[in-house]
Amino acid sequence: MQFIPEQYRIPDVPMQPFIDADEIWNYLNQTPSTLESVQQVVAKSLEKKRLNLKEVAVLINGTDSESIHCIKEGAKALKTKVYGDRIVLFAPLYVGNKCSNDCTYCGFRSSNREQVRVTLTGKELEREIEALEDEGQKRLILVFGEHTEYSPEFIAEAARTAYRVKKGTGEIRRVNINAAPLDIEGFRTVKEAGIGTYQVFQETYHPEAYKRYHVRGKKANYEYRLTSLDRAQEAGLDDVGIGALLGLYDWRFEVMGLVRHTNHLEACYNVGPHTISFPRIKDASMLEVGDRHFVSDEEFARLVAILRLAVPYTGLILTAREPAPLRNELIQYGVSQIDGGTKIELGSYSRAERNHDLNRGQFHIGDDRTLNEVVDELLQQGMLPSFCTACYRLGRTGEHFMEFSVPGFIKRFCTPNAMLTLAEYLVDYAPPETSNRGWAVIEKNMERMNEKMQRDIREKIERVKRGERDIYF
Ligand code: SAM
Ligand code: SF4
Repeated sequence: MQFIPEQYRIPDVPMQPFIDADEIWNYLNQTPSTLESVQQVVAKSLEKKRLNLKEVAVLINGTDSESIHCIKEGAKALKTKVYGDRIVLFAPLYVGNKCSNDCTYCGFRSSNREQVRVTLTGKELEREIEALEDEGQKRLILVFGEHTEYSPEFIAEAARTAYRVKKGTGEIRRVNINAAPLDIEGFRTVKEAGIGTYQVFQETYHPEAYKRYHVRGKKANYEYRLTSLDRAQEAGLDDVGIGALLGLYDWRFEVMGLVRHTNHLEACYNVGPHTISFPRIKDASMLEVGDRHFVSDEEFARLVAILRLAVPYTGLILTAREPAPLRNELIQYGVSQIDGGTKIELGSYSRAERNHDLNRGQFHIGDDRTLNEVVDELLQQGMLPSFCTACYRLGRTGEHFMEFSVPGFIKRFCTPNAMLTLAEYLVDYAPPETSNRGWAVIEKNMERMNEKMQRDIREKIERVKRGERDIYF
């Protein structure tokens, strides 16, 4: 898919910073918004076209109840149109929490002497992966602090271990990474381990605000972080995830920053981010962030809907930082991936007990349901939980991912693959009530398929029931 770069005061040059704070504030301060203009922008988005900064500002400035209603309904419609009822499930796996940075919002910050520092050994990592496989997980994101121990080779080795360790019918089929930005050579090294998405969150796109929260360590360099994913692209790693940590600066600016980042990647590399994340700050030991930029639940719902409309082709991730009822609500506005069965204390998947000690994790999580509880609730809402990894394994990532996000693709590939991976989960891991609900949801989705597709899927599901695994379209 070819994108025409827009004209910006800061031109899009690969590997060069692209955020102009004044430009973003000008858009926010000088773009009027009426219900009519909001409706026009929503209509463009429903055509599956990515919005430009001015259009996003129209949505952000649409603060009357009718405009907000129109934005939320638009996001719901787009979500149904582009993604259907699928929700992709994954789990985070913290590998090491040593960190040489001192981000004032994070429990892992170097000045936090109370934090228990752990780097999983090879054996411990294997045990964690086995425990995750026992739950039915297929997709992981490995998380690391920034530390000399966590070299590109170390990260790559952790990813290889996750792919290698198999327990029973369990296996990890996609390993994503959330770790410090690397240099081009480093990104090449992790790419060779067959990773999926490499996530680097900018935290805040506002350069001055960024300085306040990142005083020491390598992360204090705003521009090096901003261009991280350019380096990933230069290394051939075209599957990248961006994000902003909400609560550090004005959320409206961050939404504009995320869109600006998206169109920078499109302009320079002809491929947008695979995913966008928008974590809200949660309690952490030694948390030192005021509440001036606190994002309320209502604002959060609005911004999720705006992001859905702004970048229709990209996955939106909502993590277990948020409580279950809010996650259930926000799913409607366009979230496409959530984690389930999340534990963030290092080594805790293979331990039965839970301790909720802030000094044993990065922050406090709001949703500690088991994976099966999450799957079950999704099914009760008529959603289709998916563990699909087919695109990535068939090379349909980055540019291809977008090319394939064409009308009909989801129906021909994503929904059937979601059904097949759910079927595997039901056969291998689900208790009887979840299993009954799951088969009912599979049937409901089957009814929306044409006859040939129904035949193909039924034949593959029979193979799953007979013990074959990892079948996909
Ligand atoms: N150390 C790497 C880095 O900074 O890029 C890995 C990321 S860190 C382990 C994962 C993400 O957690 C951060 O990028 C940040 O956005 C988020 N985070 C940090 N502290 C948080 C808090 N108190 N509440 C919610 N999210 C937080
Ligand atoms: Fe370290 Fe990342 Fe936490 Fe910052 S956010 S202190 S870099 S783990």
